[in-house]
Amino acid sequence: MAEKNDFIIQTKGLTKEYPFGEATIKAINGIDFALERGEYATIVGPSGSGKTTFLNLIGTIDNPTAGEIFFNGVNLTQMPNKDIRDIRRNKIGFVFQAFNLLEILTTAENIALPMIINGTPTSEREERVYELLEVIGLPDRGDHFPMELSGGQRQRVAIARALANKPELILLDEPTGQLDSNTSREIIDYLMKINEEEGVTLVVVTHEDMIAKEAKRPLTILDGKIYEGILESFLDIKAIEEGTL
Ligand code: ADP
Ligand code: MG
Repeated sequence: MAEKNDFIIQTKGLTKEYPFGEATIKAINGIDFALERGEYATIVGPSGSGKTTFLNLIGTIDNPTAGEIFFNGVNLTQMPNKDIRDIRRNKIGFVFQAFNLLEILTTAENIALPMIINGTPTSEREERVYELLEVIGLPDRGDHFPMELSGGQRQRVAIARALANKPELILLDEPTGQLDSNTSREIIDYLMKINEEEGVTLVVVTHEDMIAKEAKRPLTILDGKIYEGILESFLDIKAIEEGTL
């Protein structure tokens, strides 16, 4: 059943449990959440609070134990696997902390991969790769291998790959976690530009206060539940983890 609203993602009672000996761990504990198209949201939260699990669930690369996820108003839990796969391939882009580039492929080939998978014709694909290399500021690095690039450049390639099929939603799991602060700034500026100019919806999991704060919609995940804003209790937990409290 399609619901009429402007939400790209909506969850109802979203729950993910993992078996743990005799007991279970509730990684995601009944989340009711809605994200409007074109929003820029960030998520902070202590390690183990459920951030990655939440991204994987709304990104359709993991299945909930209970609850529902709606993508553009359509209930994913009732959708045939083939349709979910189409959404995952064409409407959603992923960027992981560890880049996940294939070392045996060049920059251009890595960026082309999602288009090869969904059968984009060669000429269109080549044009898009060229365009994306321009967007990420690496027009002359198409023939380079990932190992020949810096951390920031590799993450820009991972972002270009996530953008290849012109997704409506990009999910980024600590994309700047391994980058210095200048490069991290540069990556976030690219993302904000894509969000503003192309209306792509962004969800960025981050541990950097500066990045978290400047989003239109900062969120916190604590113990498998999501909250609006950056919670003070999270800042306390962070201070304890960092030994500054
Ligand atoms: P975060 O990304 O916020 O650090 P995660 O979403 O990775 O947290 O993990 C949330 C909780 O779920 C943690 O307690 C973690 O140990 C548990 N968890 C995550 N993935 C698995 C898994 N595949 N099997 C068992 N437990 C898991
Ligand atoms: Mg994580």
